[in-house]
Amino acid sequence: MLKESLNPLNNVQELIKSACHILNLDDYIYELLKEPQRVIEISIPVRMDDGKTKVFKGYRSLHNDALGPGKGGIRFHPDVTLDEVKALSIWMTFKCCVTGIPYGGAKGGVCVDPKELSQGELERLARGYVRGLWRYLGDKIDIPAPDVGTNGQVMAWMIDEYIKLSGNYSLGSFTGKPTILGGSKGRDEATGAGVAVIAREAAKKMGLELDGATVAIQGFGNVGGYTAKHIQQKGAKIVAVGLRDSAIYNEDGFDYEDLNSYRQIHKTLKGYPKATEISLEDFWSLNVDILIPAAIENAIDGNIAQMINAKLICEAANGPITTKADRVLEEKGILVTPDILTNAGGVTVSYFEWVQNLYNYYWSVDEIILKEERAMVISFNKIWDVAQEYKVKLRDAAYIYSIKKLAEVIKLRGWY
Ligand code: GLU
Repeated sequence: MLKESLNPLNNVQELIKSACHILNLDDYIYELLKEPQRVIEISIPVRMDDGKTKVFKGYRSLHNDALGPGKGGIRFHPDVTLDEVKALSIWMTFKCCVTGIPYGGAKGGVCVDPKELSQGELERLARGYVRGLWRYLGDKIDIPAPDVGTNGQVMAWMIDEYIKLSGNYSLGSFTGKPTILGGSKGRDEATGAGVAVIAREAAKKMGLELDGATVAIQGFGNVGGYTAKHIQQKGAKIVAVGLRDSAIYNEDGFDYEDLNSYRQIHKTLKGYPKATEISLEDFWSLNVDILIPAAIENAIDGNIAQMINAKLICEAANGPITTKADRVLEEKGILVTPDILTNAGGVTVSYFEWVQNLYNYYWSVDEIILKEERAMVISFNKIWDVAQEYKVKLRDAAYIYSIKKLAEVIKLRGWY
């Protein structure tokens, strides 16, 4: 089946335009929000293990800092483009707005397949990224974190390089660090934990019990894996996991710990013995209660949306549903919890990490879990109420809510 080729930047601009229209805002609000305030493109020369030097393209986009310094991850992926990074930074502005944390939106990326690099090459690339951008980063300027293809170790190299170059021991300049280096307890699991809370809250509104509900998850990386863990803890039954070119299925449900240990050993879930291998078409059309896309953008296009039989979709990835697919799902009456709400647990605990770094006082994991859960429930209900008020779907409500807030602060600050 042919995939729609869609640009996430155009998609998010459409959403902003329609929210500005519904709110009857002046044109300049749309003009200001449709593009990032600042985009930097860098070339990163990296000495490879074979002695040759390779040059990688890197980006950092600061979409809007009306509500606080820029915040958002750095992605290492072969499909990274300038437009994708811009879109991801725009999503971050709205994500931070929805959760009420005091940040603007930003995002970075490098066009690279990190799996093809040795540890040494990866470290030199991470340090090179910071060398190219450190003057535009900082705990009161723009604060990166992990995203697809980066992790705590990458953040550790980056903060080390940043401290050396800036001469400031400001641990709050990067989040998602290992706990021994100022990272927050619970940060690794935070995105997945938050997705499970949103799934529970949305299910509740639909009169669906999460306990015993069937779930299919696309992707088993940091987000998909921890979503599986936390949703299983809440009593749901994970019956399928979508992989790159097929999926695994077991109608009796999987055990997260067992899946995870298989993946640790084999680096993939392909061939997992307690499952049947099914095609991706069969995966998308499964008759499950909840479907959770947790990989990358545009996973569900118009054609796939037609096949979906789930009752609820929770967007754990950023931008997994195309504009066309969104329309199809709405027509089919499938409730979708949008990415900027559903996966906001990660940046919420990044915020907790930043607060702890600024205070140099650290909280227990129980405190973090409780605070995150409370923040996610409040955000969900807030967006749910806006959706009822404006009679729109949750995605539009999330944009309406955050653009209203941004427009107010932009006016207060006199940005026109
Ligand atoms: N990369 C994550 C996201 O897309 C986390 C960002 C952060 O913690 O700053 O939300």
